Amino acid sequence: MATTKFIPPVDQSHHKVFAPIKSPDRLLLGPGPSNAHPDVLKAMALPPIGHLDPFYISLMGEVQGLLRYAWQTDNRLTLPMSGTGSSAMEATLANTVEPGDTVLVAIKGYFGHRLVDMAERYRANVQVLQKCWGEAFSLEELEKGLKDHRPAILAMVHAETSTGVCQPMEGIGDLCRKYDCLLLLDTVTSLGGVPLFLDEWKIDLAYSCSQKGLSCPPGLGPFTMSSRAEEKLQRRKGKVPNWYLDVSLLNKYWGSDRVYHHTAPVNMNFGIREALRLLAEEGLENSWKRHNDNAQQLWEGLEDLGLELHVPEELRLPTLTTVRIPNGIDGKAFALHLLNKYGIEIGGGLGELAGKVWRIGLMGYNSRSENVERVLKVFESELPNFREGVSFAA
Ligand SMILES: *Cc1c(COP(=O)(O)O)cnc(C)c1O
Repeated sequence: MATTKFIPPVDQSHHKVFAPIKSPDRLLLGPGPSNAHPDVLKAMALPPIGHLDPFYISLMGEVQGLLRYAWQTDNRLTLPMSGTGSSAMEATLANTVEPGDTVLVAIKGYFGHRLVDMAERYRANVQVLQKCWGEAFSLEELEKGLKDHRPAILAMVHAETSTGVCQPMEGIGDLCRKYDCLLLLDTVTSLGGVPLFLDEWKIDLAYSCSQKGLSCPPGLGPFTMSSRAEEKLQRRKGKVPNWYLDVSLLNKYWGSDRVYHHTAPVNMNFGIREALRLLAEEGLENSWKRHNDNAQQLWEGLEDLGLELHVPEELRLPTLTTVRIPNGIDGKAFALHLLNKYGIEIGGGLGELAGKVWRIGLMGYNSRSENVERVLKVFESELPNFREGVSFAA
């Protein structure tokens, strides 16, 4: 018998046998993920049960109810997609866009472009409005866009994680009703950390993720759809062109029938159930206030160090702050230094802001005064060493 060459389980890069995993101690103050709450990690370490077990079925209902609370919505179709925020993002478009529908995307940062890319893949006629990275849209600009393009859907990002801007939402929902279009809102970096009133704001489609404001690891994408959006789904001529994200199929599992669709990531749902319970226990308004207070402390501290914030105060997002990298400093090297020496992760800029800003996130469990103090302290002690030939105080 010919001898079969057996491939050994060695780590090819280190030529040694794998050791059990140990995750390094990190304070995640970048654009996400943020650190998970210890109680969430405990919930996720529980033994999995069947995805049709009566205990699990009732937990699903609790997750849905808690998500409705977090979003302040009565939407029947509210559920976590099995995937990261981008899966829920794609679900909003996959379910509602029919080929040729006009989708107007109001772009003011990186994630607006992702909405465009996704809408195009579902063969929408995509039109865009654009603002500089660091600004928000006015009602007049949006109304002009709606008048000019008469879209079926207006899509925009509430909390732009690439710029640190929070889009003021007042009046936008009414405009969308006036021009008879659906309003789709990315609430990935706002859910749990920034005031959000989905129903009051007349939002028809929204999505988020588990790993930013909800203090849970990445892996789920909360999704919600109003009855107006549901009507569009019911009117569509063809099947939803994405089997995995088809809400009409998913609702047979998450709704009353409990028909198998895919094996739910049970432990992820244990985690988000605990994360949402913690949010409800704290109270939404207390959580929003905590995020705002800690962000204020960060903003004042950074300005006291002579640093400049990228976004004007009235548009600033409490969950994510963009700080301009001072001239003569290698922003990437500085961030890497904080990670290696202090175990603190901060983010760099994306797209138009690449190399120009750092991004500091204070999201969910991480939005705490002691974390603000920690990051300010390392900025104070380490930044002068990165300034080539210029004294820090100057
Ligand atoms: C993080 C993020 C996403 C994507 O979510 P993933 O969980 O990374 O898939 C989408 N939109 C915004 C605004 C985000 O910050």
